[in-house]
Amino acid sequence: MDSAEFRKRGKEMVDYIADYMEQIEKRQVYPDVEPGYLRPMIPDSAPEVPETFEAIMKDVERVIMPGVTHWHSPFFFAYFPTANSYPAILADMLSDAIGCIGFSWTASPACTELETVMLDWLGKMINLPEEFLAGSNGDGGGVIQGTASEATLMVLLAAKRKMIQHVQLEHPELTKADIMDRLVGYSSDQAHSSVERAGLIGGVKMKMIPSDERFVARGTALRKILEEDKAAGLIPFFLCATLGTTPSCAFDNLLELGPICQEENMWMHIDAAYAGSAFVCPEFRHLMKGVEFANSFNCNPHKWLLVNFDCSTLWVKKRTDLTEAFKLNPVYLQHCHQESGLITDYRHWQIPLGRRFRSLKMWFVFRMYGVKGLQEYIRKHVNLAREFEDLLNQDDRFEISAEVAMGLVCFRLKGSNELNKALLEKINSTRKIHLVPCQLRDKFVLRFVVCSKTVDSSHVQFAWQHITGLASELLNDKSLNQSKH
Ligand SMILES: *Cc1c(COP(=O)(O)O)cnc(C)c1O
Repeated sequence: MDSAEFRKRGKEMVDYIADYMEQIEKRQVYPDVEPGYLRPMIPDSAPEVPETFEAIMKDVERVIMPGVTHWHSPFFFAYFPTANSYPAILADMLSDAIGCIGFSWTASPACTELETVMLDWLGKMINLPEEFLAGSNGDGGGVIQGTASEATLMVLLAAKRKMIQHVQLEHPELTKADIMDRLVGYSSDQAHSSVERAGLIGGVKMKMIPSDERFVARGTALRKILEEDKAAGLIPFFLCATLGTTPSCAFDNLLELGPICQEENMWMHIDAAYAGSAFVCPEFRHLMKGVEFANSFNCNPHKWLLVNFDCSTLWVKKRTDLTEAFKLNPVYLQHCHQESGLITDYRHWQIPLGRRFRSLKMWFVFRMYGVKGLQEYIRKHVNLAREFEDLLNQDDRFEISAEVAMGLVCFRLKGSNELNKALLEKINSTRKIHLVPCQLRDKFVLRFVVCSKTVDSSHVQFAWQHITGLASELLNDKSLNQSKH
């Protein structure tokens, strides 16, 4: 493809994308295909001779679209949102074109410097304490990671190395392996599975703190487990607190957990993957009280801030905790400058060497929406969740299973887990809307999440009518069955 054809095809692709977005409601939100559907639809091996762009685009509709779950359909209410906006898509095109690999400042200065400044912008937008910002010569700063899972893993590894060093200073007789064997990290029993997985990958024990009746991790529960573990000779080194848990969007109590971490010299990380974006609105910031105790903070603009995947933003108060933890300087990557403020080599902040120019999409989105636009977007989602909550409250066949704090409503039919599994099965097999469940203690619960950028009241009302219609069918069938016996 030469540049003349690229100009033509590029415009066609933009039209295709705009059509896709505008007409996404007409597509069935959840596909009908069976596992293995795709392989028979395309050749076994790559073509010997070049094919045309038209041929490929035809196959997009024939092969790809029937197997797509339309995450941006306004009838998609599953998982958590994933961001999508035109400014982010356009910025990503530019990033692809520049195509630099910004592992160090020299490798592409703009790639590094814009990222540092965008993390400062976002840090200010969500009111993070000053110490997390890079400024022009700060010790803190932020970095874009691919996912929250990688962010957690990075800080867990940094915390582990920090504690091993610390213990070795006091007990030179202990080997690294002795210490590692005794390290223990913690999270709430509501934490995302990626936290437990970070422990598995990092080769350290991770334990779960039992959350309270509102699914919140509290100080007393942490203290209890700490005392037991220390008495057994273990070395607590890390706590991952969650703001906005995945099952029910609960907020761990940082004001209780933070001081304990400080006393015990434990690294406190905050996973605010979903809810963190909402802190652009001042009215939600009471939920992040105690953030000042954290060593690191993470949220996913690729979830709820209109910056397309992947863009997970991680801040640390002391960048040297990351950069000194895993530093290697082979000759081909060496050059002279001091690490501080805007001058940084992001390869030391992450697991891979290579990295894309992802801050461009933050820059485009923040400028084209403005803080005001982003606030409106968050508020719209939260209000739609409240609308759904109100509808539930008016139907006494249903119960709400957890406090509704943001765009997630956890609900179920009063009755057995089997009944609720049957309801979810009916909803998802009808394929008009898409939901996923969660387990809260012993209850099987349906999660209704406001996800799409274009979702509005009419879609929420439709979803409600649809859900209650299926619930009525189900309850009728059930009473029929019962009367037969
Ligand atoms: C979604 C989510 C994650 C995982 O996010 P990735 O960026 O996909 O790794 C982690 N923690 C919480 C609380 C989440 O909601």
